Amino acid sequence: MTSREVFYWDERMERMPRPELAQHQLRKLRDQLAHVHARSPFYRRKLDAAGVPPDAIRSLDDLSAIPFTVKDELRVSQEQYPPWGDFGCITPREAVRVFQSSGTTGRPVRIMWSRKDWHENFYEQFSHFRCGYGLTEDDVLYVPFNYGLFVAWWGFQSAMERAGLMVIPGGGQGSKDRLRAMLDWGATVVCGTPSYLLYLAETARKLGIDLPGSPIAKIVAAGEPGAAVPSTKKALESQWGAECFDDIGSTEITNFGYECIRHQGTHVIESMLLAEVLDPETGRPLPDGEIGELVLTNLCCESMPLIRYRTRDLVRFNRAACECGRTFLRLEGGVLGRADDMFQFAGVNIFPTQIQSLLHEVDEFSQEYQLVVPRMGSGERLKIRVEPAHEQLPQTRLAAACEFLTEAVKYRIMVTPEVEVCDVGSLPRVEGKAKRIIRLQ
Ligand SMILES: [Zn+2]
Repeated sequence: MTSREVFYWDERMERMPRPELAQHQLRKLRDQLAHVHARSPFYRRKLDAAGVPPDAIRSLDDLSAIPFTVKDELRVSQEQYPPWGDFGCITPREAVRVFQSSGTTGRPVRIMWSRKDWHENFYEQFSHFRCGYGLTEDDVLYVPFNYGLFVAWWGFQSAMERAGLMVIPGGGQGSKDRLRAMLDWGATVVCGTPSYLLYLAETARKLGIDLPGSPIAKIVAAGEPGAAVPSTKKALESQWGAECFDDIGSTEITNFGYECIRHQGTHVIESMLLAEVLDPETGRPLPDGEIGELVLTNLCCESMPLIRYRTRDLVRFNRAACECGRTFLRLEGGVLGRADDMFQFAGVNIFPTQIQSLLHEVDEFSQEYQLVVPRMGSGERLKIRVEPAHEQLPQTRLAAACEFLTEAVKYRIMVTPEVEVCDVGSLPRVEGKAKRIIRLQ
């Protein structure tokens, strides 16, 4: 597999020595600061209040003088100046496409993109993804996704069709029809959230459809960290019989991270975005290799660029050149969790993805789980709800699997959980971001 040819979108830029890349980023950053200062009342206010005129940034070491942007500020701006807020740099007349964030935690944010962003910048970003994944005109992409305000696969699919792939639209269909359609139309690539792709694989098994034996050779997974969690990736790859690629982005900051065919972490498109890794509590920079919050600045976007945007995603940087030849930094293990999802229990910081990884080491359980976090001081244990992989499992095997999981969590996360086995298929399956944590009040 590793002997395959590496495709680049812009080889000179992707293999640029890092000092030169930093110069490129500095130039872009200075232009972007001048642009937002001139066009965005929100950023003009913020930069002026911080005493940072756009030309004050002389090196990337000056970055810390620039104030952060957080999602709540975007919400407040849109409440005060409906419908678009005052953080954008274009008028609605200049926009060709609008989206809305999924809004799982609070009011959704509305985003509009100009012709240049939609047709050129999105295209360039997704062209990096396409070349990273090694997709060509010979590929047939199935997109199981509905026409709506959620950005999800919009940019990906339009860039893929422009690049010459055949795109099969899979909106407005149930999972069974989607499975039949992807096989009937000869799909070689399918995209989706990790949870939904696992659900499709489970549905296929129930219907007697042999996905591993199908022509589907690649799956692209986005929307949740799962695709970069080794155990989830393994489950996706074995159940689909396909190579799995991570795709990271959000409605607000656009899509910025993709995995290459060497699978050595998730690359950030550093020609178009400036990435920092910071301590989520203090906001100070962390050395490479430490887990911290990813902070991003759009260097190319002209419509609603975000400056030092706190993604709340927890990542670990690796700036060593990848085996694919790219010098773009890699997020080791992709997104490792959400700074917001992290919860403290019994004095320990816990990320749901840690438990997910352990769970996937147990064949007796399905891929679904829920964490029930008891009220502080209740004396109750953290509860992990799981379900058996299938109905015929003997009680003794289930009991042994529960014991293994309890011990593994106790040993590796330092908390003794209670494992509750639910009925097969009873835990919620969702197309969007899986809601895994239930907090008892
Ligand atoms: Zn690479």
